[in-house]
This record gives sequence, C-alpha cells and structure tokens, in this order.
Amino acid sequence: MFCPHCGAQISENAIFCPVCGKRIESAPPEQPAAAPGPEEPAFQQPQPYENPYAQPQAPAYARPVISDFLAGNIVLTVLSFLCCNILALIPGIIGIVFSSGVKASLREGGQAEAEGKAKTAKILFFVTLGLLVLGLIANIVVFGWSLSGAGGFQEIIREMEHSFY
Ligand SMILES: [Zn+2]
Repeated sequence: MFCPHCGAQISENAIFCPVCGKRIESAPPEQPAAAPGPEEPAFQQPQPYENPYAQPQAPAYARPVISDFLAGNIVLTVLSFLCCNILALIPGIIGIVFSSGVKASLREGGQAEAEGKAKTAKILFFVTLGLLVLGLIANIVVFGWSLSGAGGFQEIIREMEHSFY
C-alpha cells in the first residue's frame, strides 16, 4: 500500500508511515476520497469571462452618425457665387437643398430617406468642388492666353531676363 500523506510505498499492515511518520488510517477505502479534498481549490473552474467594456460600447456605435454636408455645400456655393462660376453654383444650391433635407427626414424618423439625401448631398458637394477647381484652372489658362495674345506675357519675361543681365 501507499502512505496517504507522502505517497511512499509502505507495508500493508503498517500503523505509522516509516517515511513521514504520520499515522496510517485503518480504513483504506476512505483514502482516495480524502486525498482530493485538499487539492480541490486547485481544480476550481475559472470564473466565467466577462468584459465590462463590451456592454456599454455596443449601443454607442449602434446608430451611425449621418453627415449632411450642409456647411460644406454652403461654403462651396458662396465660393461659386464669388467666382461667378454659374456652372458650380447650380449643384451647390441643389446640394444645400438635399443637405437641409437630411435633418428633416431624421426628425420624421426616415432613417433610410435621410441616408439617401445625405449621399446625394455628398455627391453634389464633390461635383461643385470639381467644377470650382475646373473653373479656376480655366480662368488661369484664359488669363495666360490673354497675356500672351497681347504680347504682354513675353514682354514680362523679356523684362525679367533684362534685369538679370
Ligand atoms: Zn508517509
């Protein structure tokens, strides 16, 4: 048999363990039941994993924020007006109409309708921006042509060259 205290092999009728000196209980069947007793805390199941940060974050990201591009469309429309760019002014004004419609749709509970209007407002924002940039480039090119056409552009360069030599 084995000592229930230290596990050393001892004689079957031993009263005391010769290795650890402890008393051997007379009832061997109780030994296996008693052995796991002190080991129990080691085999305890780990506490169920819970993430305290997962719960509060979920509702915060549930509803996406809709960008209505209202400020951007207003700025571009004003710029189009100042640049006398009628081509850019048209999508700019339509963009403002769609942008202001986004909040109205949200107030009435039309989430999909608001998202559609926001998408159109965004497209119109970039169309207006593109037309404004194209208009500016066209103005610069026309300005350059008018200078060279009048001979003024070459004259300016000639004057610059003269000032160097
Ligand atoms: Zn022993």
